[in-house]
Amino acid sequence: MRPRIKQFPQLSAAALKDEQIQNNLLGLYNGFHKARIAASEATPNWDELSDRGRAIKAHTIDNLDYYLEMVERTVTAAGGKVFFAKDAAEATQYVIEVAKSRGVKVAIKGKSMVSEEMGLNQSLEEAGIEPVETDLGEYIIQLADETPFHIIAPAIHKSKAQVSDLFHEKLGTPQMTEITDLAAEARRQLRKKFIEADMGITGANFVVAETGTVALVTNEGNGRMCTSMPKLHIAITGMEKVIPSIEDLGVFLRLLIRSATGQRITSYVTTITGPRKEDEEDGPDEFHLVLIDNGRNRLLADPALRESLYCIRCGACLNACPVYRKVGGHAYGWVYPGPIGAIISPMLTGLSDGKDLPYASTLCGACKEACPVKINMPRMLLYMRNQLAEGANYPEHKTASFGEAMTFKLWRLGLSSSLSLRVFSGLARLLQMPIVRNGRINKLPPPLSAWTRLRTLPALASKPFRKRWRE
Ligand code: SF4
Repeated sequence: MRPRIKQFPQLSAAALKDEQIQNNLLGLYNGFHKARIAASEATPNWDELSDRGRAIKAHTIDNLDYYLEMVERTVTAAGGKVFFAKDAAEATQYVIEVAKSRGVKVAIKGKSMVSEEMGLNQSLEEAGIEPVETDLGEYIIQLADETPFHIIAPAIHKSKAQVSDLFHEKLGTPQMTEITDLAAEARRQLRKKFIEADMGITGANFVVAETGTVALVTNEGNGRMCTSMPKLHIAITGMEKVIPSIEDLGVFLRLLIRSATGQRITSYVTTITGPRKEDEEDGPDEFHLVLIDNGRNRLLADPALRESLYCIRCGACLNACPVYRKVGGHAYGWVYPGPIGAIISPMLTGLSDGKDLPYASTLCGACKEACPVKINMPRMLLYMRNQLAEGANYPEHKTASFGEAMTFKLWRLGLSSSLSLRVFSGLARLLQMPIVRNGRINKLPPPLSAWTRLRTLPALASKPFRKRWRE
């Protein structure tokens, strides 16, 4: 998928004017968000569970090289193959080569955000392989030729009437008004593909290092069909999805499912350890695990951003975010939206294009509060803003102009002591006189004019508070 994160200002402005998107976004807060709160409140020791999840993630990410080597050993010992891909192109090439060499014509896909990162569907089509998304939401957006709108609910921006229109147009079905009928139609269509498919492609919610097990969490059972029906299964995921042990999986399943949908347990948790064994009835003959870097090393290398790799992709921060709940997922222009997307998308695709995303936050802290592994997103967003403004580490992306940088240096000097505050505020009081109208500053002069392009500022009081207090 070609990133459009550069267009965040235009895409978000368009989303704000789109009545349909605004209506469909309303359900997020009362649905997922409130369900998550209720589920976490009903879980004894939720806070301790969160701390434990965070500690496991911190330990694994700090020792990622060790655990990745362990995954390679255990998956190989279970009869599977592991491929480490440095970027999306390398991962795509591997998947296509394996598919072509096995004569694959139809590939069924479970939900995988990493395959969206890779733009895998398009590459498969170009290679003459038909990719079929089998998660209902992903199936809808594949038919609509769109990208996911939400990490866990890719088609949440579509109403049932829109889905009915889409099925009518693309599948020739009659109009339907019931969601159960639409789901049944999708099931009918997909069942044929499950039988035809030569290859299953899935993501992985977690990869357990000690056993080489891939864990999938779904509500529709499609993940299990993708991994058990075709002869060949390829799981593709980010290298940060590794966790040390099966015991740790228990912690993350509780955190992920409650935070994502508010359920106590999801309908299907599937664990796959290598290909089918002799005494097993189903499963693929061949199993491959593709672990992708694709820019994650940049996050790993920066101590201030490293904790973004703790993310378990539950989507809770999106539902809590007042910005996401207004502009929706497509405005962010790439695979990962919301507060976590505002951090990882610019780092994975290039900061020069993603300069606006760290500013797509009110810094209210709702994302941090919602996150089951307590990722401090506001701190990272502020850090990125600072890096951008000052040009630190990324001098080519420096956003602050000379005038703005000097203004803030003076500001800092002015606030550094009581004496300088008095001197500077006295001076500012004098300087503001020509531009104050009815107690407001309507237009600041350059280089600060952008600050008053869309708002006015209150003027400094003619008599300082301290003077009034003395009086
Ligand atoms: S940052 Fe936290 S809340 Fe957001 S998707 Fe990741 S784990 Fe969930």
